[in-house]
Amino acid sequence: MTLPESGTASPQERIAAERSAATHRIDLLAARLAEIIEGSHLTTDDDEHDPEGSTIAFERAQTAALLAEARRDLDELDAAERLIDAGTYGVCEKCGRAISPERLEALPAARRCIDCA
Ligand SMILES: [Zn+2]
Repeated sequence: MTLPESGTASPQERIAAERSAATHRIDLLAARLAEIIEGSHLTTDDDEHDPEGSTIAFERAQTAALLAEARRDLDELDAAERLIDAGTYGVCEKCGRAISPERLEALPAARRCIDCA
């Protein structure tokens, strides 16, 4: 996590920071996944001959899962930005009470208070 010092940034700034981190992660993971997929077509090349094809399959599945997670994070951050625009950011979507500032600092995209999480 590369969050700014707590208390110094507005929710918008924290979300923007998280957003750029998530976007960067998606880029890296998408590139890695493309490499793995491309590499798996080249396994007939002798110097890349890999007796552990299952390792590649595992890494591919792992990377795809991380990529899906990063995309979900980005969706959550988009949703948080919409809440800011709508003026309902920081309100628990379940019980309607305010989410504590500490929780929003740790999880800028949180949509539920700690009791409802
Ligand atoms: Zn709640």
